Amino acid sequence: MSDPTETTIFSVMTALAEETGAINLGQGFPDEDGPAAVVDAAVAAMRAGHNQYSPLPGVEPLRQAIASHQQRHYGIELDPQSQIQVTFGATEALAAALIALVGTGDEVVMLDPSYDAYRAVVALAGGRSRPIVLEPPQWRVTPDAIAAAIGPAARILLLNSPHNPTGRVLDRGELELLAAACREHDLIAITDEVYEHLVFDGEHVPISTLDGMAERTLTISSLGKTHSLTGWKIGWASGPSQLVAAVRGVKQYLSFAGGTPLQHAAATALSLTSEIELLSATLAAKRDRLAAGLRDAGFTVLDSAGTYFLSADARALGENDAMALCMRLPHESGVVAIPIGAFCADPGPQAQALLRFAFCKREDVIDEAVARLGGWAAAR
Ligand code: PMP
Ligand code: GLN
Repeated sequence: MSDPTETTIFSVMTALAEETGAINLGQGFPDEDGPAAVVDAAVAAMRAGHNQYSPLPGVEPLRQAIASHQQRHYGIELDPQSQIQVTFGATEALAAALIALVGTGDEVVMLDPSYDAYRAVVALAGGRSRPIVLEPPQWRVTPDAIAAAIGPAARILLLNSPHNPTGRVLDRGELELLAAACREHDLIAITDEVYEHLVFDGEHVPISTLDGMAERTLTISSLGKTHSLTGWKIGWASGPSQLVAAVRGVKQYLSFAGGTPLQHAAATALSLTSEIELLSATLAAKRDRLAAGLRDAGFTVLDSAGTYFLSADARALGENDAMALCMRLPHESGVVAIPIGAFCADPGPQAQALLRFAFCKREDVIDEAVARLGGWAAAR
């Protein structure tokens, strides 16, 4: 990355949506808030006087709730005091982990495409990013791509599944390949599982549950995606106590502690299993609705098994450069999308023609967006 402090593609595209009045299927945030019970719990926590700094590790009820969530869903046992650290979103957990664990010149191996913050924070931490290149349209992890990415300076695997921006949910075989590479090259795995509950096809397998991985994996997640509360920025890191202590050590000088009432409400949120299942089912239907509409408009739609996102190839519409198209599309069609190339170190020709669309929007918003895109495509 040339400049790790350059404005993110999300800010650029959301500003364009605001400027043009276009429908924003770019930045991934839902247009409906999460469960009322969770919002009520936040209000109640404020009224109950939970308004001062939280303890550095995070409030006790939330750490208990995270431990119980990991136990219930994945059979992972965690000590809430030494093995869990609450953070300002997954973003702060990622930043603290990379600052703590990456030394100057160390290499961090990551799927490519990747969420844009990864390359930026690795650079800020003095490290170098090395891509495990996923090829569209399948975006599968292959032994060759792993071998090409791991050199003698590799220290960390930074993983993300369910995967932004592709919507891939890595299967057990792919995770086993990555776990084997971690064991062979003595890598620490930092795994970003913020979309863990937004899986429509297949199953989310935390890499820390594979053989020999619990002791070398720091797992990161957050409340925002699962509970449609992206602005709350309550996240957490969990795993071996020495890795959690490393995150805690850096986090104390980034933000120390805060968001206290939201942390209390997050503890309530983590206990709401049926709401999570409902949200995931609703999102799957929205994915299908958007995919069908984009196909009707003439895009080639790639599979998405999870997250908020799907990608669509614009070449059948005569467009090879999604970056340029995404800058024009709000003006020409009234819809904002994000070019997949923004997530790639060196996008190939198909990746350069792909747009990422977010489907975490109301059905009428999705319908209006695809109607606009259909009109735009037909008028060309
Ligand atoms: N990781 C991925 C893969 C994401 O898509 C996002 C988007 N918000 C984040 C991390 C950031 O999570 P948070 O909002 O909890 O900081
Ligand atoms: N994670 C969201 C996305 O990928 C939003 C990220 C952001 O705004 N930084 O769209």
